[in-house]
Amino acid sequence: ERGRLLFAAPVEFLKGVVAMSGLPPADRVEVCFAGRSNVGKSSLINALTNRKNLARASNTPGRTQEINFFTTQDGPYLVDLPGYGFAEAPVNVVKKWQELLKSYLSGRVNLRRAFVLIDSRHGVKKVDDEILTLLDRSAVTFQVVMTKVDKISKAEREKVIEQVKGALAAHPAAHPEIVVTSSEKGEGVDVLRAIIANLE
Ligand code: GDP
Repeated sequence: ERGRLLFAAPVEFLKGVVAMSGLPPADRVEVCFAGRSNVGKSSLINALTNRKNLARASNTPGRTQEINFFTTQDGPYLVDLPGYGFAEAPVNVVKKWQELLKSYLSGRVNLRRAFVLIDSRHGVKKVDDEILTLLDRSAVTFQVVMTKVDKISKAEREKVIEQVKGALAAHPAAHPEIVVTSSEKGEGVDVLRAIIANLE
């Protein structure tokens, strides 16, 4: 109910940030979304916020890497982190992004939770695991959100969840509850809304 209320009000784009100095004041709770490029992050943020094009698909390697801030009505900031894992991205772009990500995760006092999106077809890959380790070190509680679950069978679903649980066992900052979603079918979207609305 709280989740529905929070996202019934319009969510607006506030700003894109390329350096720590650009962050908005830490005057409210904040949650962030991370995931490999193409994991379905834009689609999930759009589904969460009932918007078609709030989060733009950012699939261009080497494009300016921004941390995008969205405001909810009287609720937390929603923060869209740049997709990671693009092999083609230039080394200097990757380096700069890693530095900003590290500073953001370790320095943002109002960051309550990171949602790490994992493609249901692929499970936790090495590049995901590196982000999970960074979250451990930054002492940011993270929660895994499986995406595109409509693309796999029930049996595959159970299998991938076991794989993810196994990977999470090594991470002290992991929240044990895994959220299973499909932006296409709307599955799990209300669950995620409620989790966000209930964070204090
Ligand atoms: P991003 O790069 O992480 O922002 O990923 P996008 O949201 O742009 O999604 C990448 C691709 O996956 C697009 O072709 C989407 O249409 C597709 N996609 C995203 N979410 C889902 C989903 O829940 N189900 C299915 N079947 N496809 C999805």
